Amino acid sequence: MKKIEDLQVNGQRVFVRADLNVPLSNGAITDDGRIRAVAPTIAKLVAAGAKVIVASHLGRPKGEPDPQYSLAPVAVRLGEVLGRPVSFATDTVGESAKATVAALGDGEVTLLENLRFNAGETAKDDAERGAFADELAALADLYVGDGFGAVHRKHASVYDLPARLPHAVGDLIATEVGVLKRLTDEVERPYVVVLGGSKVSDKVGVIDNLLGKADRILIGGGMAYTFLAAQGHEVGISLLQKDQIPTVLEYLKRGAETGVEFVIPVDVAISASFPDTKTHAPVEDFEIVDADKIPADKEGLDIGPKTQQLFAEKLADAKTVFWNGPVGVFEHPAFAEGTKAVAQALLDSDAFTVVGGGDSAAAVRILGFDENEFGHISTGGGASLEYLEGKSLPGLTALEG
Ligand code: ADP
Ligand code: MG
Repeated sequence: MKKIEDLQVNGQRVFVRADLNVPLSNGAITDDGRIRAVAPTIAKLVAAGAKVIVASHLGRPKGEPDPQYSLAPVAVRLGEVLGRPVSFATDTVGESAKATVAALGDGEVTLLENLRFNAGETAKDDAERGAFADELAALADLYVGDGFGAVHRKHASVYDLPARLPHAVGDLIATEVGVLKRLTDEVERPYVVVLGGSKVSDKVGVIDNLLGKADRILIGGGMAYTFLAAQGHEVGISLLQKDQIPTVLEYLKRGAETGVEFVIPVDVAISASFPDTKTHAPVEDFEIVDADKIPADKEGLDIGPKTQQLFAEKLADAKTVFWNGPVGVFEHPAFAEGTKAVAQALLDSDAFTVVGGGDSAAAVRILGFDENEFGHISTGGGASLEYLEGKSLPGLTALEG
């Protein structure tokens, strides 16, 4: 892969595919980690005299403009982080984008509006995606791929555009891939993986590959209830992926055969309803129960104190840790204890610790941990999981050619 230094960027229009998909609450950015992570790449291009065109997706709009997913607040924050003005195009390839790009001087930066306001960005149809990539390519001379959180997507700006412009890998992706190599090729043991979060079906797949690599797999978050159900327990109205139960049983069997230890919650925090993560209204019916005693009308929303202790023990002697997915609904203080305990256990170990996933990374910062104390905080959840699954990632393949 070519690096930025291998391109002649001075005076050139450089398209930077970033991942600025930050969490927003009422239009305010609640965690700017992804903006700060790609800022050094942009600053490097600025210093080298490039005309920098930054582009990203935000959320999941339906292929047309949708104000709640506008990148406008991100342009403001990016300008603050870079310490220089960042102009903003109110469309992606239309009149505004063309005019903003045309107005760029050397060493200046613009941000285009959300790539996913265009159906071509995520189209399954190669021709439709290609047509959108052609429009993007017309805006720029060179391409830098640095949106790590999107490299597992076969999208126009990630996969098709680099085929149309001389390209290089950005510094963020280069770093992220270097870290992931340490989790696959040259792992120091014990290697402990913590999996949580809400996208259960997205994450069950990674276990298949981890079974050949990790020594222990700790299961929290929404996924835990599919494991508990597989063991025959009532899980009430907790997140449950019934169709995955046979897969989970097969994993448990393979784990037992190959000496990979699965650690599943022994107690959980429950409530009759999902907590209000905006107002943080107190949870009147908060209760800790053993994992085999979840009432049929209750939902498991965090790991309990016994499980926190158990997870901490299983992490204490680790030399390598990969953590993806908060183990509870950390956005509400009543259900943040488990995630706090896992973060603290990572810091208490001497392991090389990698935290992957947008919400996991945000959780670490929002819960008040110093991100610099972790080995690496990845900007990509799905991307790092698919890498660890051993899949080839379209956005990396595209940068190779
Ligand atoms: P990441 O972005 O780190 O990959 P996910 O997007 O998969 O993680 O999941 C993050 C979300 O999972 C958080 O918003 C959190 O509230 C939620 N979550 C964690 N545990 C549970 C649970 N038991 N039930 C429902 N949601 C949960
Ligand atoms: Mg997430």
